[in-house]
Amino acid sequence: DARASMQSVSVFSPALHDGHRRRFQLLQDFGAALAGGDQLRLVFQPRVDLPTRRCVGAEVLLRWQHPTLGNISPAEFIPIVEHSPHARTMTAFVIDTALRQMALWRSQGLAPPLSINISAANLEEDDFAAQVGLMLMRHAIPPEQIELEITESAIMRDTDQALKHLNSLAGMGIRLAMDDFGTGYSSLAYLQRLPMNVVKIDQSFVRDIGEGAREQRLVHSMISLSKDLGFRVVAEGVETAAVADMLAGMECDEAQGYFFARPLETAAFEAWLHQARADTATEVAA
Ligand code: C2E
Ligand code: MG
Ligand code: MG
Ligand code: MG
Repeated sequence: DARASMQSVSVFSPALHDGHRRRFQLLQDFGAALAGGDQLRLVFQPRVDLPTRRCVGAEVLLRWQHPTLGNISPAEFIPIVEHSPHARTMTAFVIDTALRQMALWRSQGLAPPLSINISAANLEEDDFAAQVGLMLMRHAIPPEQIELEITESAIMRDTDQALKHLNSLAGMGIRLAMDDFGTGYSSLAYLQRLPMNVVKIDQSFVRDIGEGAREQRLVHSMISLSKDLGFRVVAEGVETAAVADMLAGMECDEAQGYFFARPLETAAFEAWLHQARADTATEVAA
């Protein structure tokens, strides 16, 4: 009736729905960014082995410089894109760009394994694993050199379908990491049935371990349980030396965070790698 149709018109009222308008605009503009140009770029955050403090890889993180709105945080645009048809194109762009960069680095003797975030929507594509396989071939990257990060909630969305894809990816030799562990609903018992290699403990737990014994015990149990089940454990969001030392004491395998390095632009990451290599050489010589 007339009232109902007036209400549906009011959904588009700008005063009431600035949030919707912004999301709609961002989504449209992201489509344009994906189509070409230089608005999208990748940054790289080093991941270190805690006992030796050596770089064992890096996480690839997407950045978007919008032409009029400036830098848009991934916390804002990723969830919007992930729930849209652009999700697949975004992941394809990130994987392809990361692999091209990796091929270049390998030709220069720098070969850090890269960890790439994927979305729930990717696990709903029929041919996701096959597409990743083709991209690896095109750039001549061995599958063992990449790791795909998937959040708990992405896997929980359609577990059978997700499991099928994860098994294909793992079967190709690609490493798999459970991202933001502790924030979703999966149990470690469930995780054990998935072909995962790595558990990344979410920064919300890691950040708190300076605060008290309870917080420390929680993270310590997450680490020991994960390790008992055969996973390599990575702590995310390590911001201080004290937290890094505590995690090392808990026998956490690896860590990532501002204390070691922020996500770095390509050239800065290369410089960081060369510096880290020089430091290691000095240690060995000493
Ligand atoms: P994530 O995969 O859990 O990535 C870690 C986030 O923590 C990154 O935020 C990183 O910059 C931030 N971080 C790293 N170390 C520290 C630290 O010591 N302290 C604090 N406070 N933060 C730290 P970023 O880059 O803003 O990305 C946020 C999220 O957006 C990511 O969380 C991931 O879920 C998503 N994302 C980013 N890039 C991509 C992408 O290429 N594809 C997909 N599907 N998602 C992405
Ligand atoms: Mg991640
Ligand atoms: Mg995470
Ligand atoms: Mg996250």
